[in-house]
Amino acid sequence: SADLENRRGEVKRRLDNAGALSVLFYREPIEMVSAKGAWMHAANGDHYLDLYNNVPSVGHSHPRVVDAVSRQMARLNIHSRYLNSVVDDYLERLKQRLPEQLANIALTCTGSEANDLALRVAETVTGERGVIVTETAYHGNTSLTTAISPSALKKDKPPENVVAVPAPSARNYGEAIEAGFAEAISKAIKTLRSRGYGLSSCICDSIFSSDGVFADPAGFLKPVVKMVRSVGGLYIADEVQPGFARTGETFWGFERHGIEPDMVTMGKPMGNGFPMAGLAARPDHLEWFAATVGYFNTFGGNPVAAAAGAAVLDVIEDENLQAHADDVGRHLRTLLAKLSSQDTRVGTPRGAGLFVGLDLVADGDRSKPDPELATRVINGLKEERVLIGAAGPYGHTLKIRPPLCLKREEVDIFIDRLNTVMQRV
Ligand code: PMP
Repeated sequence: SADLENRRGEVKRRLDNAGALSVLFYREPIEMVSAKGAWMHAANGDHYLDLYNNVPSVGHSHPRVVDAVSRQMARLNIHSRYLNSVVDDYLERLKQRLPEQLANIALTCTGSEANDLALRVAETVTGERGVIVTETAYHGNTSLTTAISPSALKKDKPPENVVAVPAPSARNYGEAIEAGFAEAISKAIKTLRSRGYGLSSCICDSIFSSDGVFADPAGFLKPVVKMVRSVGGLYIADEVQPGFARTGETFWGFERHGIEPDMVTMGKPMGNGFPMAGLAARPDHLEWFAATVGYFNTFGGNPVAAAAGAAVLDVIEDENLQAHADDVGRHLRTLLAKLSSQDTRVGTPRGAGLFVGLDLVADGDRSKPDPELATRVINGLKEERVLIGAAGPYGHTLKIRPPLCLKREEVDIFIDRLNTVMQRV
């Protein structure tokens, strides 16, 4: 219709300044003006239930984070070349959450920077360049991290020092995920060797979010870490997606697997929307790197970021968000499992805490991904005022990762609306 054409024309005009690299959701993008808790409010007055955004993790516009950031901004904000007690106290608290040997934390502004730094530290410490990742992984937008992000490489392939292994899914390895995944890592080490590369690092997102959300059986990363170390490589846990209580049972995704990584990177939920990220590493590794290469990040670890980060930890603790994510996540998976048992187009829900993946498949054939159905469901949910995304190599996995404050009643609202959409599509 003429009206639709007009609206599309207006969106195009508004994107002119951002250009070709701008990316928006939906053919008809939503203009957002404000948000609170798990709800986002659009310019036209619509209210959307947010099951997509894991950055405002303790809740959109959480007053304690807003207050901490505003007060620190009014008092002092400066780069990290001075002593500041807000930063000291934050790092001390964060350290308490991490394995003892990862006693140093380098703060950055984005997860990409944290992963880029981790890769460079690993190269320096091991003297090797080979990297193992998963097939549909995403680890960042810098040159180094794009090279290890198969999902971001549209026409390009990863360079020859990077080997991508199939994600730890039942689709790829059947029942024996742990053994199958370990075998794939072992093969990747051999492939790197045949190309003349020793292993520098293996990096995994501990919940495999862009691969399609694979959390179980907990513990399947144990043999991987052992194997990586046995050939002198370092294991990097990318906690940008699962970290900060999202997986419910544990504070970090890697803890569910009972492993101690050589480095941990974190970001997204860390400042509840204030841009901050970081790398936790062994002091001797960072000393080695600092002596050879050196690193400075102007905005990384500024006092306002530290104030935001501290407020996020306060809220997680005081509002018991880890246990809450566990409880509400179980409720969500129980209701999705019920839907799955009634609708042959819906797979069995996977995940941990408030990070859930749900496959949409061809009617009656669970082995056949149906990305078009997933797109229709995502658009149908938009019409029902629910925000949700997709992941995985085929784009047929609904990716559900709402703010952690999501209530059981809000899960029920989602399920009602999902039922309506499933009947319609
Ligand atoms: N690692 C993972 C697992 C991610 O999902 C992302 C962002 N989607 C990144 C790293 C990069 O973080 P950022 O966008 O903050 O650079």
